[in-house]
Amino acid sequence: MPHWIEPHPTGIYVRPADAWIDPSVPQERALVTHGHADHARGGHGHVWATRETLAIMALRYGTASGTAVSYGEEIRMNGVTISYVPAGHVLGSAQILLSHAGERIVVTGDYKRRPDPTCKAFEPVPCDIFVTEATFGLPVFRHPDTGSEVDRLLAALHANPERCILVGAYALGKAQRLICELRARGHQDPIHIHGALERMCALYEQFGVPLGDLRPATGLPAGEMRGRIILSPPSALNDRWSRRLPDPITAMASGWMRVRQRARQRNVELPLVISDHADWDELTDTIREVAPAETWITHGREEALLHWCMTHQMRARALALVGREDEDEG
Ligand SMILES: [Zn+2]
Ligand SMILES: [Zn+2]
Repeated sequence: MPHWIEPHPTGIYVRPADAWIDPSVPQERALVTHGHADHARGGHGHVWATRETLAIMALRYGTASGTAVSYGEEIRMNGVTISYVPAGHVLGSAQILLSHAGERIVVTGDYKRRPDPTCKAFEPVPCDIFVTEATFGLPVFRHPDTGSEVDRLLAALHANPERCILVGAYALGKAQRLICELRARGHQDPIHIHGALERMCALYEQFGVPLGDLRPATGLPAGEMRGRIILSPPSALNDRWSRRLPDPITAMASGWMRVRQRARQRNVELPLVISDHADWDELTDTIREVAPAETWITHGREEALLHWCMTHQMRARALALVGREDEDEG
């Protein structure tokens, strides 16, 4: 007999609610965990998401029909009770907790366990089925302490007062988190941002995340950019516009910077391993803590985590969802 939630290549279908979780194709009824493009698509009939996620989707796709769900609020859809629980990934990110027929299922979306000043911390919820992401689901992925990575960035900045540091950072989440981490470590100088980051930074500030003195990255004399940190989306790192900067040191903030080859591909001199996803230890610790009867693994490197569950006598299966990786998002 098919289960009441069904993994499909295009998302997870919650049959009794007739709704899809993070569908990758337009659906009539979509429950969206967070605003990243591989989870939040445009074109749905109606979206249920946190207020922040709806605002992010409106910014990216234009205003659509949506219902804002607060963390902890319970909504009911035809015998399914649904609530959104903080996932600690980006502003507004949520795990979706579904209860039906005496069974509790948590779909994490993306998550991490490390402190992030820009969003609410992940809350483990005991459940029967835990559907976890596995972006960094290999034992080789162990993210270093975030503070020490930010210190390396500041040390490079201070050691090169004639240069500037151009940091590639994903426009939703990573950029704002990095700015907050820099501020928390006493860096109050203006930070310059590429035009593609402006609206998302403004949205974070509207939702109460102060980012300090942000200035445009273009249209200023090169002299003014010396000794400054400049943020751009990863895709713009090696673009034309950066040639106007004064002798930039190219950096990138991503969990993927653990892989030297990925840093080399983008000509990154200063790889910063700062991730918005759980690393291997966070994934396995979280599965232990949630202690579900069954773990469903998706969104990344499923095999190693599946094997880990098996060797720890935990029931698990790998789901094959399509279009679930955005390598810049790491
Ligand atoms: Zn994400
Ligand atoms: Zn994702």
